[in-house]
Amino acid sequence: MTINKTVPVNFEFFPPKTEAGQAKLIAVANVLAGEQPEFFSVTYGAGGSTRDGTRRTVLQLNNEVGVPAAPHLSCVGDSREDLRTLLNDYRDCGIQRIVALRGDLPSGMGHASGELRYANELVEFIRAETGDHFKLEVAAYPESHPQAPSFEADLKNFIRKAKAGADSAITQYFFNADCYFHFVDRVRKAGVDIPIIPGIMPITNYSKLARFSDACGAEIPRWIRKQLESYGDDSDSIKAFGTEVISQLCERLVEGGAPGLHFYTLNQAEPTVAVLRNLRG
Ligand code: FAD
Repeated sequence: MTINKTVPVNFEFFPPKTEAGQAKLIAVANVLAGEQPEFFSVTYGAGGSTRDGTRRTVLQLNNEVGVPAAPHLSCVGDSREDLRTLLNDYRDCGIQRIVALRGDLPSGMGHASGELRYANELVEFIRAETGDHFKLEVAAYPESHPQAPSFEADLKNFIRKAKAGADSAITQYFFNADCYFHFVDRVRKAGVDIPIIPGIMPITNYSKLARFSDACGAEIPRWIRKQLESYGDDSDSIKAFGTEVISQLCERLVEGGAPGLHFYTLNQAEPTVAVLRNLRG
């Protein structure tokens, strides 16, 4: 299995909570920098819960590891003034890309207090405040966002977001390539041509994956679930099977025209590197 070695890749991290975690992340990022990513991205806890951690991590990745880094920014719990301050700060620090999201408030943080309700409003706000300075990524859901009333409604929302000024999109992870191709096809038929980069979740741990997938609406196909269940605590077998399944998924996506791959690294290098080794030979 070898695909075009030049297919762009990018890697997502979350901001660590401890100094030890931060040091480990920088070591992981240095390993992944060897894969020549187009950019790193760093998640943002909606409501500003990781505002400082996201900023610090982005700047460290950008300035010390030397890979352009993009903060995620969500509007669900931040005021316009909070967002304006952060945007100006990122621009002054030389950041050029932002992943613009609505976000989900962590449970226990109460109701959304933000002034902007949806990601399309955040995209409009960023464009109004900073013009074309930032390259804007938005989220896409080939299997539909879990709160969307229907596939068609969610598709319309995606198109609204793209038309609001997004340059590119990154999808929620999925394990079924056909849902990605179907989604891209529907978006193209609606006359929207921004790149849609599939989000890839390496498989390393069944129970965590099942929990995450339930929460974000990603379907784990029965055959993958059954196989993972049968490995129990045998993490070597889970990783070997996971690497094979994800490598084949990536190969199909790239062969079918995906313009790049976005890896949800969960701050680990090895699972992503194993897939890229398979793909790039
Ligand atoms: P939106 O595009 O605003 O959509 C949210 C829901 O509202 C959808 O059901 C949509 O159909 C509906 N909708 C949208 N616009 C309208 C409208 N105008 N009227 C009515 N309904 C509408 N979460 C975090 O908290 N931090 C992160 O760092 C983070 N990073 C992510 C990165 C990627 C690549 C992805 C795919 C997701 C990420 N998430 C993150 C999760 C994301 O915040 C959640 O999925 C959230 O519930 C939706 O965000 P969104 O930007 O897709 O929202």
